[in-house]
Amino acid sequence: MADLKTDVRYIKGIGEQRAKALGKLGIHTLRDLISWFPRRYEDRTETRRVADLVPGEPACVAAMIAAPPTVSHIRKGLDLVKVRAVDETGALDVTFFNQSWLKNSLQAGETYIFYGRAEGSLLRRRMANPVVEPEGRREATGRIVPVYPLTAGVSQMILSRSIRQGLDACGDILPDILPDQVRREHQLCRVGYAYENIHFPAGGQALELARRRLAFEELFLFTLGLRRLRQRRETVKVEPFRPVDMGPFYRALSFTLTEAQGRCVEEALGDMASGRPMNRLCQGDVGSGKTMVAAACVYFSVKNGRQAALMAPTEILARQHYEGLAPLMEPLGVRCALLTGSHTAKEKKALAAGLAAGEIDFVVGTHALITGGVEYRRLGLVVTDEQHRFGVGQRAALAGKGENPHTLVMSATPIPRTLALILYGDLDVSVIDQLPPGRRPVQTSFVNGSYHPRIYKFLRRLVGEGRQAYIVCPQVSESEEGGDDRKAVTEYAAKLQKEVFPDLRVAYVHGKMKPKEKDAVMAAFAARETDILVSTTVIEVGVDVPNAAVMVVENAERFGLSQLHQLRGRVGRGEWQSYCVLVSDNQNEETRRRLKVMVKTADGFKIAEEDLRLRGPGDFFGQRQHGLPGLRVADIGCDAQLLREAQAAADALLERDPELKSCPAAAERMAELFTEAELTFS
Ligand code: ADP
Ligand code: MG
Repeated sequence: MADLKTDVRYIKGIGEQRAKALGKLGIHTLRDLISWFPRRYEDRTETRRVADLVPGEPACVAAMIAAPPTVSHIRKGLDLVKVRAVDETGALDVTFFNQSWLKNSLQAGETYIFYGRAEGSLLRRRMANPVVEPEGRREATGRIVPVYPLTAGVSQMILSRSIRQGLDACGDILPDILPDQVRREHQLCRVGYAYENIHFPAGGQALELARRRLAFEELFLFTLGLRRLRQRRETVKVEPFRPVDMGPFYRALSFTLTEAQGRCVEEALGDMASGRPMNRLCQGDVGSGKTMVAAACVYFSVKNGRQAALMAPTEILARQHYEGLAPLMEPLGVRCALLTGSHTAKEKKALAAGLAAGEIDFVVGTHALITGGVEYRRLGLVVTDEQHRFGVGQRAALAGKGENPHTLVMSATPIPRTLALILYGDLDVSVIDQLPPGRRPVQTSFVNGSYHPRIYKFLRRLVGEGRQAYIVCPQVSESEEGGDDRKAVTEYAAKLQKEVFPDLRVAYVHGKMKPKEKDAVMAAFAARETDILVSTTVIEVGVDVPNAAVMVVENAERFGLSQLHQLRGRVGRGEWQSYCVLVSDNQNEETRRRLKVMVKTADGFKIAEEDLRLRGPGDFFGQRQHGLPGLRVADIGCDAQLLREAQAAADALLERDPELKSCPAAAERMAELFTEAELTFS
């Protein structure tokens, strides 16, 4: 008897070779196999007549082979099978590439189902490489067909057949992790039905029921997991920080904190004085002044005799934080240090010794802070500046360095609320919803390439007034033809320098430069030694240059809205009116609508919500893998309502039964998911 833990080789048709290929997808057991959900579906239920085929639309058609197929050998590696199929409304010319066996299996006079994209005119319909099967033995058509993510050596058909066997073997013994009461209250189908119909939908409605149930289940488990993390933290006790006179710190600043900043500081200091480890997210739009909130917390921690660490996602940013904060903190008696990957081994050793001996109070750095045997004497506070990157694992690793240090996560927004609930569900949240005084909103415009002469003229005028400008070129992926960021950026910079701005100082920076080179270019720009900086998105988390007043983004359609918002946040940091010019020749309606959002609003939250809605969460993170444990079906962009329901259900269950005694299956699955998550996170 097979059960969920049975090896996939149990399935007929899966031997060593295929088991190995499946292993690459993380499929080892029958449970893994039947939990390999389709990426999308093709609706092949409806069968059309030849005359009703619409060019460009995929559809099924039933037609009789009119004459025996012909095979022609075009060249080495390219054979063509041609056949004409007819019904009472018309004829369809079908071609197959490199499937010469079809010559013998397609019988003249027999009717077959073809599924594919029709081309051609009303008089001459064509289909290339359709799915084909006999009318009497339909397997790949006549239903909603799942499309699975694949790997080499495993086809759709093999996966589909294997999953069929897997479901037959253990579809009935799947434990339902959702308590009956929850299932009934939220009108969710049973687990067996859900698995059956996510793979082999009986129809559109059945599929939706299945999807809803599985998405709910994921979000429910995820919430339970987050609540558990939080619970675990809340039972930890630490020595409360004592009150500190913050006067000297505030007096050392050249400005007064905004009300919003002040509130965040208060909330954070309150946490640290509470006797429990702080776990706070400080969320604020670019330029809202999160760094000073962090600095206040650092001061508070150090004056409590505890070390503080600040981790930034890039070396440039770490350096900037250090260079900005050390001159403020050192005179206040806080001994500061910078630790990045580019220090020599000897320097690192000296720094490590200083940290271990407690001779350094405040260290700023990159990942180097958690890698390579850094020990702290009394680490009291960890601040992570995430800049919209999510390093749950790094956060956890650094937190593990001390005895439950306080943690403050600074997020340069703009995280849509639905997502924040998930990503930071275990944290308390402070929001800086106010910009420092005197900021003027960045004037944003959206133009096409024909405006380049005018843009250049505009740049020249502003540079003449003493301002500086950024020009961002899109990242070209390596796989694209001629794709090389370096080239795009260096060539454009060279062209501008030679042909457009021979008398101005043009520089460039891109991600493949050595950190030292990058730093040098950025430092020169910050020191006003450069007028125009041509760059890839590396400047997204770049240094603060208040004198930069223009951001030009070329091929703006290639960027996500959130990314454009981040880029725009690089200007408008000083007292001058700043501008953002989005350049795109793309005519696509959707694209134009997207870019116009940028012109209309400066609100990072709104932009993020829009981005998430239009692009989906995977793209929001810049990559498909969002690293959230166990979310395969749920779409955090679209399932906001379901998320709220699942959270309410999880909270109600925990209220009734904090130990989850009544649903051991849920407890077990949650534990599995979250240990897997910890493994992949660290
Ligand atoms: P964020 O990290 O939130 O994007 P920063 O902390 O880098 O923003 O602050 C942006 C700029 O605003 C910095 O130059 C900082 O010195 C300045 N700043 C921060 N708080 C204030 C304030 N209350 N009044 C005036 N300027 C401020
Ligand atoms: Mg910042």
